[in-house]
Amino acid sequence: MKLPPLEYACPTTLAEAVALLASRDGDAKAIAGGQSLMPMLAFRLATPSLLVDLRKLPDLREIKIAADGVRLGAMVRWRDIEKDARLASAHPLLKAAVAHVAHYQIRNRGTIGGSIAHADPAAEIPGIVVTCDADIAVTGKSGSRVIPAAAFFRGALTTALEADEIITEIRFPPWPARRRWGFQEFARRRGDFAMAAAALFYDEDAAGKATNAHVGIIGVGERPRRLPEVEAVLNGRSINEATIARAAEVTCATVDAQEDIHASAPYRRALAGTMVERALRSACS
Ligand SMILES: Cc1cc2nc3c(=O)[nH]c(=O)nc-3n(C[C@H](O)[C@H](O)[C@H](O)COP(=O)(O)OP(=O)(O)OC[C@H]3O[C@@H](n4cnc5c(N)ncnc54)[C@H](O)[C@@H]3O)c2cc1C
Repeated sequence: MKLPPLEYACPTTLAEAVALLASRDGDAKAIAGGQSLMPMLAFRLATPSLLVDLRKLPDLREIKIAADGVRLGAMVRWRDIEKDARLASAHPLLKAAVAHVAHYQIRNRGTIGGSIAHADPAAEIPGIVVTCDADIAVTGKSGSRVIPAAAFFRGALTTALEADEIITEIRFPPWPARRRWGFQEFARRRGDFAMAAAALFYDEDAAGKATNAHVGIIGVGERPRRLPEVEAVLNGRSINEATIARAAEVTCATVDAQEDIHASAPYRRALAGTMVERALRSACS
């Protein structure tokens, strides 16, 4: 289907882009790679009167790696992350998850800021930012603010962003060199959204016990979330067969699961347990 009639603007400064978004009282939308928004316009699931294209805004395409962590501009594309060899050590979990996002053509255009703003519960990277306690920097007509990932996602396709706010940067905390991590996803076909995925990491103390465990689950509930009950199973213990089995069991017992045309809630819960089990095996291998 063709797009609905709308106006289009391609500002060259952030201030101009924010002013354009603010000018329509919630009836204007930013467009980045267009990979989620264009289908929504075609299906009339979104009908803004104005599209504000972010592609000419300066400074939103940088990947910065420093002692205080990894910073990704909102217009960084999946392909940019895939191609950046530094991220293999600076943030291996992020890089591994991006390999599961969509297909080659979509990865050439889709952006990290677009994915986070869109907030599809089955999208991989919203789950990674929640698991890693990343911060999301945004700018709107009232100024700039930083939203912790845990407070950003409110439900399926619903976030803490105001209508005039633009995501500018995603900030990941530093990644220690010896950290253990795993990412596992189950999708019907390669490149599809996750039916269930687990992203996790932990550090090890001098005795080899897990500390600082972060376990995130994706595609199972209405929004990505960490599982504190599973993290409690891991912290202070050696990650062995018994701990892995217990973590999988607690995942199935505690995760919120949604039913849809692809899977029932009990199936998704079981799948979540299996993903956590496999991710832990890969983390400790
Ligand atoms: C066939 C297909 C398969 C896909 N498979 C997957 C998959 O497996 N996993 C996955 O994660 N994704 C998948 N996607 C989605 C893809 O990754 C999109 O690129 C991504 O979700 C949105 O990024 P975008 O840059 O294209 O955003 P757009 O489509 O341009 O925008 C999406 C939304 O975000 C808003 N927005 C965009 N940028 C900003 C910003 N900087 N600040 C504020 N709001 C902003 C827009 O207003 C819009 O509401 C798939 C898409 C397609 C078409």
